[in-house]
Amino acid sequence: MESSYLAASRSGLLDRQINKSLRLLEKCSLCPRRCNVDRLAGKIGLCRTGACAEVASYGPHFGEEAVLVGSHGSGTIFFCGCSLLCAFCQNYDISHPEEHSCLPVDDRQLAQVMVELQEQGCHNINLVTPSHVIPQILEALPSAIERGLTVPLVYNSSGYDDVASLHLLDGIVDIYMPDFKFWSTDSANRYAKASDYPATARMALREMQRQVGDLQINARGCAERGLLVRHLLMPGGFAETDAILHFLAKKISVNCYVNIMDQYRPCGRADEFAELGAGITAEEYWQAVQRAEKYGLTRIDRPDYSHLLRHLLDT
Ligand code: SF4
Repeated sequence: MESSYLAASRSGLLDRQINKSLRLLEKCSLCPRRCNVDRLAGKIGLCRTGACAEVASYGPHFGEEAVLVGSHGSGTIFFCGCSLLCAFCQNYDISHPEEHSCLPVDDRQLAQVMVELQEQGCHNINLVTPSHVIPQILEALPSAIERGLTVPLVYNSSGYDDVASLHLLDGIVDIYMPDFKFWSTDSANRYAKASDYPATARMALREMQRQVGDLQINARGCAERGLLVRHLLMPGGFAETDAILHFLAKKISVNCYVNIMDQYRPCGRADEFAELGAGITAEEYWQAVQRAEKYGLTRIDRPDYSHLLRHLLDT
């Protein structure tokens, strides 16, 4: 299956979306925070990112879902900064700007990173925390295409995505991989100061599903197009998990591919919240999986460590 952005490039859609998206940076309203700062003039808002995208690290990743990892890894690019900023973030040092050390990249440098990952055999370009750098990603694509990029683009976000910004990616992104973190406005406000997160994520996921549909996996077991939703189980958060799984089954699709993640551990500022000190038990994980199945969701991602083991044995 040809990656969407190649057709978008031929039709002129990509150029149009680049121009539209860059204009949004003048008075930034790319994400629901709507800081209204002129990022092209170097001003920064809550995501602490100006005109250039900043990259913390990149490389083949073997710890992602098996449908992304394949035999040679998912080509992850970790962007610095974030528009959600959860207190318990597991990548706290790169998402929270005071503590990061990042490399600003222009469009040609970002294109080079994408092509390098493809040359290393990665099955996709996995854009981690991309919501605040959509224009910069789009701007890098013509140069990446010129240098031979063909693998699918994965938009790996927190789910805190403005629908208008997602429209800029329609016909360009192949795989959406949002989190759905909080169902309750109280939790979203308490841990991310974003009480609009649940409503925003619901709208964003519907738009993503409209654009790309259910996840399509090729004969080699690699995802090519579609929606893959991640949900991180939180200590004491079963009621929210339940509501999120119900939403996915009823409002997105019973064929929605879901990764229920049990790897929560207290990170970042989690110690400021007594209830976030615990981890997730195996019983809590299985309870969530059973609840998903009860709602009719059958495409639940199961951890598959064979790719990682093969990679470790080969290196
Ligand atoms: S992308 Fe950054 S500057 Fe723009 S609205 Fe969101 S947080 Fe603010």
